[in-house]
Amino acid sequence: MNIHEYQAKELLRKHGVAVPKGKVAFTVDEAVKTAKELGTEVVVVKAQIHAGGRGKAGGVKIAKNLDEVRKYAKEILGKVLVTHQTGPQGKEVKRLLIEEGSKIKKEYYVGVVVDRATSRVVMMASEEGGMEIEEVAAKTPEKIIKEVIDPAVGLQPFQARKLAFAINIPGSLVNKAVKFMMGLYQVFVEKDASVAEINPLVVTEEGEVVALDAKINFDSNALYRHPEIKELRDLDEEDPKEIEASKFDLNYIALDGNIGCMVNGAGLAMSTMDIIKYYGGEPANFLDVGGGATTENVKEAFKIILSDSKVKGIFVNIFGGIMKCDIIANGIVTAAKEVKLDRPLVVRLEGTNVELGKQILNDSGLNIVAADSMADGAKKIVELVK
Ligand code: GDP
Ligand code: MN
Repeated sequence: MNIHEYQAKELLRKHGVAVPKGKVAFTVDEAVKTAKELGTEVVVVKAQIHAGGRGKAGGVKIAKNLDEVRKYAKEILGKVLVTHQTGPQGKEVKRLLIEEGSKIKKEYYVGVVVDRATSRVVMMASEEGGMEIEEVAAKTPEKIIKEVIDPAVGLQPFQARKLAFAINIPGSLVNKAVKFMMGLYQVFVEKDASVAEINPLVVTEEGEVVALDAKINFDSNALYRHPEIKELRDLDEEDPKEIEASKFDLNYIALDGNIGCMVNGAGLAMSTMDIIKYYGGEPANFLDVGGGATTENVKEAFKIILSDSKVKGIFVNIFGGIMKCDIIANGIVTAAKEVKLDRPLVVRLEGTNVELGKQILNDSGLNIVAADSMADGAKKIVELVK
């Protein structure tokens, strides 16, 4: 789960990690009021969306007086920001962060991630802050310094110091940088984060080390341990189809193509997407209905796929193991009765109760194209949506 920058900063602040003073605003008046309360000479007006690259897209403005705060707040609220992370459709700005301006001396990067290669939490730091870290990683990987953290003892102060020196934090500020990194790591572990990225971390003219930006993602599977984090979820930032799917325990991710997929098992779902692409098609979603799905879940899954107007055809690819083919068949038939099935449907069933499943589909009177194999099904649906 992802949260907004202002929420991440509040969380960091609570745990003693230095961030600029600031507050969220939902309206232009609120923005001006907050700026007045801050009372600083310079105020930064920042679009709050779950995507980076806002600066370049005009979502971060520096205001020198309250009139400018009003002007920028008006300009940004309600605007659809298109950044390299939002996709071409962009994201509408519904919240602003109104923050005291910082006198930036230099920008750095600090990130905490779970590293698959070492199976450890890794803290990364770089002198190349403020820019896209992916670009730094691609062009000058030597400029990203990493410390692998032993989970038994956590991030050690000497490791944080090593990072701070390696990225050339001024000597007199190394202790502040160490405190910052230790705090960031603490929040990451305590809250079961999956990514915590501070880009930029800045050193100010006044000699402070503060997070100017903050992006924290959380492991959704651990959210039950953190009701206070769960509360920060902003449904406006999520695909409505994905929200609907999560209510029914379906693993659903919306994609850009036009072939809706209903599959059981994450591995089979991945290979179904692969084979669709192999035959020249584009999947409209990833969907794993899981092993324990009921007719009800399958029905909802089918309805979610049909609710996507991009979907021009559906490919159901089921290997009945724990999941039985008749349950899938019943789900499809009930869903098709509730929502008109107006697009081609290719079904490949295999495994437990396959005969029964095929029988149910045959008797339903639905217009279904049967496939004998995954490849056969993929070829057929690609042909049908053309
Ligand atoms: P992102 O583009 O979505 O990653 O948004 P950031 O929060 O990183 O802001 C983009 C850039 O705006 C930063 O790299 C800074 O250069 C600039 N910026 C943000 N806040 C301030 C501030 O308080 N003062 C100044 N001078 N610049 C800022
Ligand atoms: Mn940033």
